Amino acid sequence: MGLTDPVIGQPIAKAVVTLSLLSEDGKLAFWGDCRPAASAASARGNWRRCAKKSASPPPVVPRGRYARNGAEAGRGGEQVRNGRKPPQRREYQGLGGNGMEKWALLVIDMLRDFVAEEGSLYCGPGASALVGPVAAEIEAARAAGAPVVYVCDRHLPDDPEFNMFPPHCVAGSPGAEVVPALAPRPGDRVIPKRRFSGFFGTDLDLTLRELGVDRLRLVGVCTNICVLYTAADARMRGYEVEVPRDKVASFDPGAHEWALQQMEKVLGVRVR
Ligand SMILES: [Zn+2]
Repeated sequence: MGLTDPVIGQPIAKAVVTLSLLSEDGKLAFWGDCRPAASAASARGNWRRCAKKSASPPPVVPRGRYARNGAEAGRGGEQVRNGRKPPQRREYQGLGGNGMEKWALLVIDMLRDFVAEEGSLYCGPGASALVGPVAAEIEAARAAGAPVVYVCDRHLPDDPEFNMFPPHCVAGSPGAEVVPALAPRPGDRVIPKRRFSGFFGTDLDLTLRELGVDRLRLVGVCTNICVLYTAADARMRGYEVEVPRDKVASFDPGAHEWALQQMEKVLGVRVR
């Protein structure tokens, strides 16, 4: 009885199965090809013939994108991307400290509706007071050659988020604009979002990867909402994240402190 393709219902003319068997001590016991048999009896014969093959070295798996960094392919070697290990949680000396990894500044929701007193969802004096410090952050990033990425609420007129919050940052409205003192310049990236996380349903991850960025510095509002959930999604994706506590703010001081603690203790964010 030969093998039949379950989709087209026709016999499979040719197939080769590459087997690698490991002994209990983890050493390679057998590696080779077996072909499907026409009957159960010949299958047993095939198996014996296969098993008699002397063990060959496992195939060489090239290092590089999605290759495994281990001598024994498929045995749990650490996954690497582009020949590098993904970022691990560790202490580090601050963004750009060793000049070996590229970072970007994410300016989160520094928009009229959140930061200006007349804004429809004004986050309070703490948010207004951020304009100067965030301007300094932007200048420092530009001076260091780091990309400046604006992550901006931009809602539909009837966005379901307005079931939870008053309408704000509707696309095309003045409230959705970055406050003038922090206005983006040519070359900056602007990523619109409709939910709390800058990564959810947006171009942010692709943009950062195209820029070669693996470290992020987050500033803006609100600490316990869009900053927190953007930080969480960044950490889930393997980015190193740093949040300067005096460059983020919330309408709720208690939630601000709670969110900073969650970021530091649970997400492994560097809160400075
Ligand atoms: Zn919103």
